[in-house]
Parts: sequence; C-alpha cells; structure tokens
Amino acid sequence: MSQAPRKIAPEVAAVASEALRHVEWLRDSGVAEVPRVGRRARPRSATATPTATSIYSLSDKGCGSAGLLAIRGDLGECTRCKLAGGRTRLVFGVGNPKAELMFVGEGPGADEDRQGEPFVGKAGQLLTKMIEAMGFRRAHVYIANVVKCRPPQNRDPEPDEIEACEPFLEAQIAAIHPRVIVALGRFAVQTLLRDTAPISRQRGRWREYRGVRLMPTFHPAYLLRNPADKRKAWEDLQLVMKELGKALPAGR
Ligand code: URA
Repeated sequence: MSQAPRKIAPEVAAVASEALRHVEWLRDSGVAEVPRVGRRARPRSATATPTATSIYSLSDKGCGSAGLLAIRGDLGECTRCKLAGGRTRLVFGVGNPKAELMFVGEGPGADEDRQGEPFVGKAGQLLTKMIEAMGFRRAHVYIANVVKCRPPQNRDPEPDEIEACEPFLEAQIAAIHPRVIVALGRFAVQTLLRDTAPISRQRGRWREYRGVRLMPTFHPAYLLRNPADKRKAWEDLQLVMKELGKALPAGR
C-alpha cells in the first residue's frame, strides 16, 4: 500500500534547502570536506552548543577557511557572557583566512555592531588608512577583536567578557597562523601578552604570541584623540613592514 507523502514543516524545508545550497556552494568552491560540528576539539574553555547543521558559511565575514568556519560554528549565537543581550550582531572578524598580517582590536562599537564587521566606524577608517599606507588592502589582512560583541555605551570590556571570548580569538589566530600580529591598544596587548604595562611603554617593541611575532601599537581610536602619536604608530607599522619585506617609504 502506498503511503501518503509525509508533510515537511516549511521551516524544516527551508533549513534543508539552505543546507543543500550551502554544500553545493562549498563543492563548487573546491571544498572537499566539511568539519563535523560537535565532534572536533573545541577551543579551550569554550562551551559550544552543537547544532546538527552549521548555519554559517565560508562566505560569511571572517569565515573563509574550514578552520575559521568551524570556530564560527562553535561560537554560534553566543550567550557565554552578558554582552550577548545587548548586541545587534556578533562581530567575528573579517579578511583573508591566510593573512600574513593580522590586527587585533578591542571590541565592536556601534557601527561594527550594526554591520557585523570589525573596524568600520571612524577608528576603522583610520585603521584602513594605516593598512593601506603599509602597502596592503583590508582584504589582504585579517582583523578581529578581543571581544566579539559590543560593550554597552562602548565601555571597556570586563574581565569575565574577555575570558569568555578569548578562546575564540586564540583559535582564530591558530587557524590563520599569521606571520605578524599587530595588537591595537591596551586590551589586545593585555589579553594576548598578559602584560599590563602601559601601551606607551610596550609599543614599538617586538614580542611573541605563541610563536607569532607581535607588535603592540596604539589603538586607532586613541590616535583619533591624540593625533600627535600617529607618528609613533607609523614607526611601529614600519617595523612590521620591514619584517614582512614590504617597501618602506624613501629615506627609511
Ligand atoms: N574598535 C575596536 O577595537 N574594534 C572595532 O571593531 C572597532 C573599534
């Protein structure tokens, strides 16, 4: 006896068709394997909520490799800290998944929260100019933050918020494996180096983060308030250019 076809709820059908579209897109992009959510090692201390199908794709901002996509899947629609309640969009990262140069900032502001992309507001425009002055484009480098959700009224991120988010930044750095990290400002430097000395004392001196050369420098938002220090930040970036074999301006 033939059975009547089972009805599929429209939302289930929509998820299935999106999943199929995504897998086809991956196949067409040359991806031979996809990570299995819930089976792989998770970033230290991150408590992922496994989902049957990752709702993220390689074309999402900052997710352009299988490794980054897996990290994005682990992060999910994160509620690990109190910043979750106030965000519009989680700001994972942006840029080249194989970047030789990675920038780490503090956390999203209002513009980033709205657009889901790091450093797109006023400080972001300055960072983009700094990147271009170094002979790169934004798409060449990778940009991420210490915390992935906007702190209310742009207050400083709090220790429990940094602690909850740090494993994901660590995992992003490991997946990208840049040659150089530029740590922008106090929170990036303190988080990555566990060094609380003022940024004015740390900037311009090479450090190391898990085998990757790290250059501390001023945060672009600080530079907007203190333009006289732009010259020092440019000196720091020229050290990075030298390290990466980029041509320096004449006379250097
Ligand atoms: N400041 C940051 O530290 N990160 C951003 O993404 C934007 C501003």
